Amino acid sequence: MATSSSESRRQPSLQTVAEREALLLAPYAMHSADSAGRKYFEPEHPYRGPFQRDRDRIIHSAAYRRLGHKTQVFTGEMGDYHRSRLTHTLEATSIARTLGRALRLNEDLIEALTLAHDLGHPPFGHAGEDTLDECLRQHGGFSHNRHGLRILEQLELRYPDFPGLNLSREVLDGQAARIDKDTAARRPLLEAQVVDAADSVAYDTHDADDALQIKLLTLDDLLQCGLWREAAARVRRRYSNLSPVELRLTVLHELIDWQVSDLMEQAAGRIAAADIQSVAAACQAPPLILASQEIVELKAELERFLFQRVYRHPQILQVRARAQEKLRALFDHFVSYPQQMPESFRQRIAQIGVERSVVDYLAGMTDRFAQREYERALGV
Ligand code: MG
Repeated sequence: MATSSSESRRQPSLQTVAEREALLLAPYAMHSADSAGRKYFEPEHPYRGPFQRDRDRIIHSAAYRRLGHKTQVFTGEMGDYHRSRLTHTLEATSIARTLGRALRLNEDLIEALTLAHDLGHPPFGHAGEDTLDECLRQHGGFSHNRHGLRILEQLELRYPDFPGLNLSREVLDGQAARIDKDTAARRPLLEAQVVDAADSVAYDTHDADDALQIKLLTLDDLLQCGLWREAAARVRRRYSNLSPVELRLTVLHELIDWQVSDLMEQAAGRIAAADIQSVAAACQAPPLILASQEIVELKAELERFLFQRVYRHPQILQVRARAQEKLRALFDHFVSYPQQMPESFRQRIAQIGVERSVVDYLAGMTDRFAQREYERALGV
């Protein structure tokens, strides 16, 4: 008896990743055992599955750590409450894992994909991205999604045997699917579709919360949007005496919970209705991880509102203009003095041109490193 109970206690840790996934995952989930593998051969790890290793490599990368000091929407001049690229990434990951587990998808793959999804953002948020795209207008342009893939495949230098992180094909394909979404020949894995949906729930919700905290908006402003109005009505049916702060925080929870529950129900319904029984069938079907029509419309209304009232707020536009000037000046400076860049970027100039190599260097900078480099380089 004693032996069998100690054996059964040991059993879970001895179970292989493939066995565990076979028990837990749905037939339309991406199983590690079916992975197309890595570009550079590596033997399997004794107890970490391939997507777990991918996740660990991303977490240990320099690009991931730098997300903590990169602007999501609001910059450091606006206080300490609001989300950075890193906390946005973690909120999106938490939502994506909840969805993935409920739908019996591969959570390790989902976690790797979500942790990597914003690695390609340059300093100063979308203002920075627009400037770098402008700098490379004659040289192929710049997009954060494409740059994210360059980081994963080439720019992270952490291993003696290969450039980049040598991630599983499915993680790279998932990131590649974020580029030119409309022209992709095949729909991405359901795990990648979950990441997209979770990203959208996270930023729509937290951008509004950050804007309230920074006082670019009031709660009454947001209640003009149907999504906030309905969430507030649901909260008021449960609580009668909330202070304004309590109401705001409870509405935020409600917004996430409502959207995630809707996504889960809709996705499960679509998967069942189309009788999806394999990964191949999931990738040939119309999008399956999709909110209800009601929420799609309410989110579109909220996003139009946030665009007008937050992303184009005079205070944000001012910060945006200053950031763009600095990044443009840094670009011109390093194109003139490429010898001031670190060796790994200088070495690549012959192969990819000075402009692209300078942009690779600039895109990796945190907001404050870019600020310091600007002051050093321009002597201001
Ligand atoms: Mg994101």
